[in-house]
Amino acid sequence: MTRSKQTGNHKNDKKKNIAKLWKTKRRVKDIDQIHEDMRPENAKSLLKQKIDYDLPGNAQHYCLHCARYFVDMKTLKEHFKTKVHKRRLKQLSEEPYTQEEAERAAGMGSYKPPKQIVVQTQEVGEDME
Ligand SMILES: [Zn+2]
Repeated sequence: MTRSKQTGNHKNDKKKNIAKLWKTKRRVKDIDQIHEDMRPENAKSLLKQKIDYDLPGNAQHYCLHCARYFVDMKTLKEHFKTKVHKRRLKQLSEEPYTQEEAERAAGMGSYKPPKQIVVQTQEVGEDME
């Protein structure tokens, strides 16, 4: 047999690794992380990022609440009108459900509904291209 080289296996391994890398790269942030990002001090730096040519729109058009980069201001604004974005704002306006709240809800102590946070779409400059 001349076909004893294990090229087939090698190739498969490589493919698998690339798929894994992709998955990691595309991983979206958890709601918890976005709550962190929404703190004014964090939000400021996220909305004014350094130019990164590896990211869509060179990282200049970022939606804070969805943790996504957009190619330009037009696309970002369009995104703000989408269901995905609006659903995200709603999701973020409810504080993470804590163990303490779960206990209160179960009738231990007085139940207080989760605090509502006002979440608004970030400001975008009208004159920016
Ligand atoms: Zn968004």
